[in-house]
Amino acid sequence: MSDMMKKIHDLAKEYEPELISLRRYFHMHPELSWEELSTTDHIIEELEKIEGVRVLRRGFGGTNSGLTAEIRGEKPGTGKCVALRADIDALPIMEENDVEYRSRTDGVMHACGHDGHMAGLITGARILSQLRSEFCGTVRLIFEPAEESGIRGGAKVLVEEGALDGVDAIFGLHLFTLYPAGQVLYRSGPCMASADGWDLNITGKGGHGSAPELAVDPTIAAFMFGNAVQTLISRETSPKETAVISITSIETSSKTRNIIPESVKLMGATRALSGELQDRLEAAMRRVISGIAQMTRCRMDLDYMRFYPAVINDPELTDILKDAALGLFEPENVKEAPLNMGSEDFSFYGAVVPATFAQVGIADRNRPETCCPHHSATFNLDESQLWRGAALHAGFACRFLCGK
Ligand SMILES: [Zn+2]
Ligand SMILES: [Zn+2]
Repeated sequence: MSDMMKKIHDLAKEYEPELISLRRYFHMHPELSWEELSTTDHIIEELEKIEGVRVLRRGFGGTNSGLTAEIRGEKPGTGKCVALRADIDALPIMEENDVEYRSRTDGVMHACGHDGHMAGLITGARILSQLRSEFCGTVRLIFEPAEESGIRGGAKVLVEEGALDGVDAIFGLHLFTLYPAGQVLYRSGPCMASADGWDLNITGKGGHGSAPELAVDPTIAAFMFGNAVQTLISRETSPKETAVISITSIETSSKTRNIIPESVKLMGATRALSGELQDRLEAAMRRVISGIAQMTRCRMDLDYMRFYPAVINDPELTDILKDAALGLFEPENVKEAPLNMGSEDFSFYGAVVPATFAQVGIADRNRPETCCPHHSATFNLDESQLWRGAALHAGFACRFLCGK
């Protein structure tokens, strides 16, 4: 363990009690996407207590949510700037956990771990502040609103509004109950999937169930589409590539047995691990739809929404991350991550500057309450792992800015 990584490790452990109480504060006061006003207030309040941290900007996307700040190293050296990102929004879920720090807002809950992300990045800034005389360059802190929004994710807006101006690289992490508590996972190249959603409206001509020849039955087009769309995965996507298409809702305008409906609406989701495959699947869906429309005489309108691109990690930065992690944690806990078909709007940063995204395991098998799925009403995390996120932020920044 290098001297610097040892100091970061020890400071993260020293600040652990405040880190946990900060996480609990955020947990008690969750706010939905683009409404994170008191969350942003509290982050600023906490950052103002840390020497050397300067808030650059508050408010993005025409709201007062989210902020950027920076902290400068005092050692002469390269003028590089590294960004560290935490997402700050909660979800419209009624918390079912019976803990003293449960959500104080009915129907809103930090059920994805973003409370731990904020507390981790603030603590990372505390650590970096202590080490200011020992690193060179600048650390940009990004507290991103609305990661969960899908249709209007915060990262895209922040990039458009200049949050990455002057930044040479960016690092982010997610706490995940997918992995055992204590594991720190890195992955070079494709890491998390793109997320697209779509609605398909099929219009035919309604009629009596006994006289299909007088109607144009949209359910036939829906069934054909349901089969054909899966061949885009099984027959047009290489077995060496990874993608999934799921139809998640089917609804017809008929609510009874003897009426052929006028219309059918399908909803679904498409995920892929590269932008090229994401493009190809959308184009192929359009081709299949136009063929089926012609065959069945139905009108088929596809509304295809691109939410998040795939998270693709830069190999060089991922080496830096791995190296920092090995300097901070037990080697048996530092692992290559498997592919994760979840998605993250962190990918928008990676489209602009080199980026790498780490995953930190928080599921303690001996404590079932730490093993619930993200976005569930019983989600909780193993707080004794939070220090790892804080250490990783500071460790990655120092390792990137100063080398070994
Ligand atoms: Zn989430
Ligand atoms: Zn999340």
